[in-house]
Amino acid sequence: MDGVDAREPSFRDSVDIMFNRAAGMLDLPSGMAEKIRVANSTYIVRFGVKLRGEIKTFTGYRSVHSEHMEPVKGGIRFADNVNQDEVEALAALMTYKCALVEVPYGGSKGGLCINPNDWEVDELERITRRFAYELIKRDLINPAQNVPAPDMGTGEREMAWIADAYKRIKTDDINARACVTGKPRNVGGIAGRTEATGRGVQYGLREFFRHPKDIAAAGLSGSLSGKRVIVQGLGNVGYHAAKFLSEEDDCLVTAIAERDGAVINEAGINVEQLKEYMNEHGGVKGFPGCEYVENGPSVLESECDILIPAAMEAAIHLGNADRIKAPLIMEAANGPVTAGADEILRGKGCVIIPDMYANAGGVTVSYFEWVKNLSHIRFGRMQRRQEEAWHEMLIGGIEEVTGTPFPSDKKYMEGADELSLVRSGLDDTMRSAYQQMSKVWNARKDEGIDLRTAAYLISIQKVADSYATLGL
Ligand code: GLU
Repeated sequence: MDGVDAREPSFRDSVDIMFNRAAGMLDLPSGMAEKIRVANSTYIVRFGVKLRGEIKTFTGYRSVHSEHMEPVKGGIRFADNVNQDEVEALAALMTYKCALVEVPYGGSKGGLCINPNDWEVDELERITRRFAYELIKRDLINPAQNVPAPDMGTGEREMAWIADAYKRIKTDDINARACVTGKPRNVGGIAGRTEATGRGVQYGLREFFRHPKDIAAAGLSGSLSGKRVIVQGLGNVGYHAAKFLSEEDDCLVTAIAERDGAVINEAGINVEQLKEYMNEHGGVKGFPGCEYVENGPSVLESECDILIPAAMEAAIHLGNADRIKAPLIMEAANGPVTAGADEILRGKGCVIIPDMYANAGGVTVSYFEWVKNLSHIRFGRMQRRQEEAWHEMLIGGIEEVTGTPFPSDKKYMEGADELSLVRSGLDDTMRSAYQQMSKVWNARKDEGIDLRTAAYLISIQKVADSYATLGL
């Protein structure tokens, strides 16, 4: 975290402050808010792996925030600054996120203190499998109880190792593949999972721009097209969000901040080319056609229409919040705005589309993957050709009645394949969750409610209702 102020609460406390603001506005049974807020359990596992001629000890976490629905769900992060406070904050956000977008899970999160770049691939595989074993034997990885997914520093490759580790231990579990999501396609993954969080950011922004009152509240006008966007972090989430917004929605990505600095181009950055350049050179410095600044976070303070922090938590903090000029912030990362910064930004009239909504695309498509694994069949397999035959019949009938041939573009004839079904399900999820938030926000603006508080109000109420039904 850059420029952290001593007055800044911890990530966990920051989430709790935001939770408390909303919980205080709800009429919950006595003690319910406390029950929802606390993390149910956090396991710390320490294990040794013999590497490079010596035993190396690693520390990993899996925190279960809420089991009002099971399995619990949330990614596993590999980073050298992973700690209990962070994992618990992220697990809590998973609970609220799943409730908000109606994905039937409790919240969980895991992490391993490791810098993946310090290790060769085969070493990383041994470490990951050993960590997975520690979690599997405690049922902290289990298709019915706890289903991890990728997060920062992990991806398809690590999920494949985890799935295989589970299958080797639970050889008779026919649902073994559902023990983890975000897997490669050939071991039970689903089309569109890798792009899902970035795609959700795009669908979320599209939905925001379908709400004229909300656009006006941010002091913006018009549509998403032509909006100037600044993105922090060109990892999986930031890359896909920036790519889709620039290539499909005509947004201008005017600055991208990365670890080694930021690149700026008011005419718009070619995201795909920058990503290729980064893969080759390890950073953004020297990318042709762009101005480079070493102080990456400084571009968060530049003029733009939409700011998308898609890197770490606490990117916007007490030290820079009052210099942020963006009228609209889309929190693609988890917890990118601290509680103190949130207050400052709200005071300035900045509209923040909160993390629990903005980055919910990942867990939404994880849900589809889990359902696919449990049903043991790819989406669309049964109905695709039947749909095509039906479309063909319908078009044939129309042509016969009208005596006019249909346009030759045959796209409308196609039955839905897995990718289009996943995107349709994700789009629907993002639209309806936004509509719920916007409704609460607009109805209760006079009480000082913003979009984040609206999101908390909705999700806390849903979790409370689940607990009440369970007899709590
Ligand atoms: N790590 C992602 C998140 O923070 C995805 C979690 C999941 O798919 O379970 O939402």
